[in-house]
Amino acid sequence: MNIGIMGGTFNPVHSGHIAFLHAFIHQIALDICYVIPARRSPFRMNEPLAEDIHRLNMLHLACDHIPNIIVSDMEIRREGLSYTIDTVSEIQHAYPDAHIYLLIGEDQAHRFKEWKQWEDLLSSVHLCIVQRTLDANVQLLIHELIHGTHANPPIIINTPLFHVSSTLIRESVVQGRSIEGLVPESVEKYIVQHQLYASL
Ligand code: ATP
Repeated sequence: MNIGIMGGTFNPVHSGHIAFLHAFIHQIALDICYVIPARRSPFRMNEPLAEDIHRLNMLHLACDHIPNIIVSDMEIRREGLSYTIDTVSEIQHAYPDAHIYLLIGEDQAHRFKEWKQWEDLLSSVHLCIVQRTLDANVQLLIHELIHGTHANPPIIINTPLFHVSSTLIRESVVQGRSIEGLVPESVEKYIVQHQLYASL
């Protein structure tokens, strides 16, 4: 059984996330793909963060119709800061025989060695990376990541580049610019309805 995990702040979920989740599911032939919003990332202590329930609701709106995806509140329910190693352990415990694939963006791959127990993480999952910038030297990034470890090289997920970020969405809303097409339509309506990101 192949299980995928993609964590993030999803503040809010955007169309890039959805597009590369589809690619992740198909390329790896995932049976289940967990999408897991973080309660609060240790790297983002100073950012305006929409309430957990709003980030979770928006993910449900964006993902519930996609076969194989399960939006999980396991990090939101867990006390304290969200660490991926704890999430992976929880999923391994639930599916002891599964192959686990962890998807991260290229920007996170650059910071991967700051993650809690990154070496344990690298040896217990198949790391998958989605490229974010055109001029990225992905082979060098991979070499640096696994250098000195016994881990298998990460898998690159083949997708076009998506020039969208949650930061862009939040800034666009606060400046009154349209976010049409940058987030799923249901998420756009939710943001308006709940007046999210109206001020930063
Ligand atoms: P922010 O703009 O607030 O930093 P974000 O757009 O990076 O947010 P996150 O929820 O932090 O969104 O992203 C979750 C994961 O998706 C991270 O691993 C991140 O690297 C990756 N990711 C997000 N947007 C893209 C994108 N456009 N292309 C590739 N990877 C992305």
